[in-house]
Amino acid sequence: MVGGGHAGCEAAMAAARMGLRTALFTLNLDLIAQMSCNPAIGGIAKGHLVREIDALGGVMGVVADQTGIQFRLLNTSRGPAVWSPRAQCDKALYRVRMREQLEGQANLFLKQAEVVDVWLEDAVEPTHRDEAEMNGAHRVRVQGLILRDGTRVRAGATVVTTGTFLNGLIHCGEKKYSAGRAGEPASVLLGESLKRLGLREFRHKTGTPPRLDGRTIDWSKFEPQPGDAEPTAFSLRTREIALRQVQCHIARTTPETMRLIRENVHRSPMYSGQITSVGPRYCPSIEDKIVRFPDKIGHQFFLEPEGLTTDEIYVNGMSTSLPQEIQAQMVASIPGLEHAEMLRPGYAIEYDAIDPTELDRSLRVKKFEGLYLAGQINGTSGYEEAAAQGIMAGINAALAVRGEAPFHLDRTEAYIGILVDDLISKGSDEPYRMFTSRAEFRLHLRIDNADRRLMPHGRRLGLVDDATWADFEARQERAASLKARLETTRLDPTLLTAETLEKLDGDHANLGGQPLGEFLKRPEVEIFDLMAQVGWAGLAADASALERSMWKNEVRAVETEIKYAGYLSQQQRSITKMKRAEAMRIPAWFDYGSVSGLSREMQSVFTRVRPLTLGQASRLPGVTPAAVSLLHVYIEIQGRKRADASRLTA
Ligand code: FAD
Repeated sequence: MVGGGHAGCEAAMAAARMGLRTALFTLNLDLIAQMSCNPAIGGIAKGHLVREIDALGGVMGVVADQTGIQFRLLNTSRGPAVWSPRAQCDKALYRVRMREQLEGQANLFLKQAEVVDVWLEDAVEPTHRDEAEMNGAHRVRVQGLILRDGTRVRAGATVVTTGTFLNGLIHCGEKKYSAGRAGEPASVLLGESLKRLGLREFRHKTGTPPRLDGRTIDWSKFEPQPGDAEPTAFSLRTREIALRQVQCHIARTTPETMRLIRENVHRSPMYSGQITSVGPRYCPSIEDKIVRFPDKIGHQFFLEPEGLTTDEIYVNGMSTSLPQEIQAQMVASIPGLEHAEMLRPGYAIEYDAIDPTELDRSLRVKKFEGLYLAGQINGTSGYEEAAAQGIMAGINAALAVRGEAPFHLDRTEAYIGILVDDLISKGSDEPYRMFTSRAEFRLHLRIDNADRRLMPHGRRLGLVDDATWADFEARQERAASLKARLETTRLDPTLLTAETLEKLDGDHANLGGQPLGEFLKRPEVEIFDLMAQVGWAGLAADASALERSMWKNEVRAVETEIKYAGYLSQQQRSITKMKRAEAMRIPAWFDYGSVSGLSREMQSVFTRVRPLTLGQASRLPGVTPAAVSLLHVYIEIQGRKRADASRLTA
């Protein structure tokens, strides 16, 4: 593994747990799992990814729970499909706990060293390799890595997860300098070596806000934002939230802040022309927000503690690359921050990323055997997106070394499947982050059923231990039994509480006799109104806040399955249709050039990506249903021709 970031840690843990001797090379062992930006895990759709990583047997959720100092379940005013957990974490402790996980893992060896190249099987020039690849004659194998001191490290498979480090260039106002992120060197040699592999590359950018000294903030001027009283953990293996919980604070820019930004925007490298690469549209800098929404009179931001043993405060929502002195004036323009000391300025960073359409569904570089890429190097943004790719790349690298078939998740079973499919099919013209709107079947991909969707895969792969599996089975049994009881027990209205009756607004004369499951479908009825009637063992009186939230999570999952049964079965029919399209494979020998009627543009998209199935082909950017129909017809025509030709030669 190259890289000790969020992708590298998951990749290394997965491969080692699957029994492979695994080495993780990173530039600085003390900065393993460093959160380069916001010290928080999860959030809308990202929380789904963490739950899925956890269900597969990954570590991000466990470590986030161990180091969480504020937990919030987001989006609860909307349907359960989009509820998503988020935790503010103690940044320094997150690194420590992740390192403990890595060091506690058998077969896993940590190494501090700079990787400067991948070690190829032979010295074939890139153009020759491309031709060989096109003819399917010879695919170059990556033998391992080359370190800065010239040492060659042989590996059955290599996963590169270098984040923002490849030819990283930091910008802060007019100043710019080479770096992988603040305080760390860029990976220039590896960046140049990867260019020689002949892979398509682009340059992305991202940014971070200033950090303040909490001792110099007048906290009385800001509205506190507490966490949830009952924390929602990421991992189903978590038994306690051990750390003291803290508040964040909500703040707003003033007209003076807006004026300062407007008057100095020409000094921001994005607007001065110093940066030309593409940044994350959904995580814009404060100057972007002001240019894009000139009529807004102010912007909200959050003051978030970076940990329990530090006074450092992360200014969430004020990412900027304006000159440091302007940042200081912006901060001082906010009541309560007049005397705030800036510990670190915000900055933007540009870096090289590899076009992920160069990868197959296993995250293997198509042109090479044994080379996998995961994380921000593939054009994504965010710890969770990186970790999700990391676990998939680690699993697939391990399977390849064992000579076993790769492990894929499709779009209908996991956000991780959507992430990988989007990346390898559409590429990433701008830093890619996950949203619930990217899922076609959101109601199926909930946080409360991530274990049911994915834990059996994790178990089969050897990533889920016996105790976790036993808990999972017990949970499934409890859910099935609760569902059965709700479906078979008849409603006794005399047992309904006054509160529930009030919700029914007098409409309860003829309620009796119907199964509780039917009654639960009424929008005003909640499953907790019915627990007394099914005699389901509730919680012990002294249950902890975490136990309460886990219990509710479990019960709510059953409620969702019953309440939305109609939508769920409708979606199930669409899923079956989509799976059928996914099952129609496009053979490797298929010649897009001889499909008459297919535009040159379509031909070049298909030839570049080489989709594996008609389903994947249909999701490529700009592909029309007519083009997919043509492929369908020509798969048969070309297949017949090949069969005839081979009969003649025989
Ligand atoms: P990283 O976490 O960056 O880890 C890369 C690892 O590779 C490091 O351990 C490094 O030591 C190692 N490495 C690099 N080169 C070599 C080499 N040659 N040899 C050995 N090891 C090497 N995400 C968001 O979601 N929202 C944001 O607003 C946001 N803002 C960001 C702002 C900044 C300034 C930065 C730097 C990042 C930001 N991110 C943001 C992105 C987030 O940090 C990344 O998405 C995430 O950390 C990517 O994880 P990763 O594992 O791919 O890489």
